[in-house]
Amino acid sequence: MDYDVLILGGGIIGCAAAYELSKYSLNIALIEKDYDIADDVALINSSIVYDGVECEDNLMCKLEIMGNYMMNEITKKFNVPFERKDSLTIFESDYQSKKIQYIYERAKKRGIKDIYMLDKNSIGDIEPNLNINVKNALYSKNKGVICPYDLAIAYGEVAFDNGVNFKLEEEVLDIQKISKGFRVITNKNKFTCNMVLNTIPGDIYTVNSPLEKSIEKNNKKLNFMLFKKGAFNSSGNIINIINDNEEIQYSNTIQGDILLALKSNRSFQYEETLSKSKLLFNQVDHKKVSAFYHWSYYENKIIIDDSLIDKGYIKVTGKHYGQVTMTPAIAKIACETIVSNLNCMLKKDFVDKRREIYRFKELSNNEKIDLINMDKKYGKIICNCKHVTEGEIIDAIRRPLGARTIEGIKRRTGAILGDCQGSYCLDKIISILARETNKNISDIVKDSKNSNILSVRIKQFNSM
Ligand SMILES: Cc1cc2nc3c(=O)[nH]c(=O)nc-3n(C[C@H](O)[C@H](O)[C@H](O)COP(=O)(O)OP(=O)(O)OC[C@H]3O[C@@H](n4cnc5c(N)ncnc54)[C@H](O)[C@@H]3O)c2cc1C
Repeated sequence: MDYDVLILGGGIIGCAAAYELSKYSLNIALIEKDYDIADDVALINSSIVYDGVECEDNLMCKLEIMGNYMMNEITKKFNVPFERKDSLTIFESDYQSKKIQYIYERAKKRGIKDIYMLDKNSIGDIEPNLNINVKNALYSKNKGVICPYDLAIAYGEVAFDNGVNFKLEEEVLDIQKISKGFRVITNKNKFTCNMVLNTIPGDIYTVNSPLEKSIEKNNKKLNFMLFKKGAFNSSGNIINIINDNEEIQYSNTIQGDILLALKSNRSFQYEETLSKSKLLFNQVDHKKVSAFYHWSYYENKIIIDDSLIDKGYIKVTGKHYGQVTMTPAIAKIACETIVSNLNCMLKKDFVDKRREIYRFKELSNNEKIDLINMDKKYGKIICNCKHVTEGEIIDAIRRPLGARTIEGIKRRTGAILGDCQGSYCLDKIISILARETNKNISDIVKDSKNSNILSVRIKQFNSM
C-alpha cells in the first residue's frame, strides 16, 4: 500500500482532517487539484463562527455547537485571529417577532447557554444606533468572527510539519475499490491506500453509490458589501435583521471593517444594497464602501457519510453557510472514525504548534525594531495600504505549503487587499514571487493554471 489514508480535497475540511490524523502513526497524503490549499474558501477575511441557535436542523446545530466550542483552543494554538462577538437577531414584523420566542425556547432545549430575550429598551442598550423600530430581539454571547483561510492554512501547515504528504496540482479522476483497500487515480499518478476520506464535492467517482447523489439547494444569493472602519456608528456586535424576503447581517471583520451580508432570492445591485444598509443605521458613509460581491448561499446538510466504512471509505458531503464553524467538529469525528478502523497509535513526536508568523503592522515599535534587526527585509514595506513588508511576503512563500500564486500571497499576508487593490504593490510582489520560486515573472499566475498576470514581456529586464 502507498498510504494508510488518502485525503481527497485540500479545502478547509480536508486540511483540518489532515491535522487531526497527523497526530497518529499513519502514512497520510492529501491530494488537491489547485496550486494552493484552501483556494475555494471565500476571499473574505471574516467568517462568522455560529452558535447553533439559527440552525433549523438539529444535527447541523450540534456540529456548530461542537465546532464553536473547539474554536478558542485551536485559534489560540495556531495564532489565527478569532474574536468572540455578541449578537442580536431581530425579526422586523410583529408577526415574525413571535418566531423569536420559538427560536429562544428551541435554543434553551438544545442546551445553548448565554442567550437572552431582549425587549425594545434593552435592544437600545446593546445597539443604540439601530434605525428600525422592533419589539424584541434574541441576544447571544456565543458567536465570533474568524479569518477562514488563515485557519485552513494553519491546519495544513501543522499537518505538513507532522508528516502529511501534500500533493498539490494533482486532480483526482477516479476512486476504485480493489481487493484490499482503494486505488485513487489522478491526472499524474495511481495510488493505493487502506482508507479514503473524500471531501471533494460531487459524486462522480466509481466508488460512490449512485443512490447517494446529493441535491444541492442554492436558490438564494448573498450580496456582500464591505465598508471601511467608521462607515457606520455601530457598536461592533453581529446583527441579523430578518424580514419576509431578506436577511441582513452586519459583522465587524477581524480588521475592524464592517461586512454587510444581504441574503435574498436574487442578486442586488450596488445602489440597492447600499440603501438597505441605510435602512438600518442612521448614518452610513457611502464613500467608505471598499468592496461589493455576489455569492450563492448554501444550506445543504453536511453529512459525514460512513456507510462504506467497513470497506474503508468516508465521504463528507454538502455545502453549508456554517461550514467553517463546523470544521473542527467534522474533522475530529471523521478522524475518530478512521482511527478506530486502523491499527495505529498516537505519535510521540507530534508537534502541536504552527511555525511563528509575524504580522508586522500588529507589532509594537520595539518588536518591529527587533524583527528588522533579525531580518532587514521586515523593514521594507511592499504593500503601503496594508503595511505588509517584504519579510512577510518571503515568509509566506517559504513557509510549509508556501504561496505559489498571487492569491496565495494575498491570503497569507493581506497584501493587495487595500484601497489601491495592488496598483502600487502588485508588480513588486510578482517580482519577489518570481525570484523566490526561480521563475520568470511572466510565469506568475493569479490563482489557477493559465491565469498569468503578465501575458508577454516587452523587454528582457530581470525585474520590473
Ligand atoms: C461567501 C461565503 C461566505 C461564507 N461564510 C461563512 C461563515 O460566515 N461562517 C462559516 O462557518 N462558513 C462560511 N462559509 C462556508 C465555508 O467557507 C465553505 O463552505 C468552506 O470553505 C467549504 O470547505 P470544504 O473544505 O468543505 O470545501 P471546498 O473548499 O470546496 O474543498 C474542496 C476541495 O477539493 C478540491 N477539489 C475539487 N475537485 C477535486 C479533484 N477532482 N481532485 C482534487 N481536488 C479537488 C477543491 O479544489 C477544494 O480545495 C462561507 C462560504 C462562502 C462561499
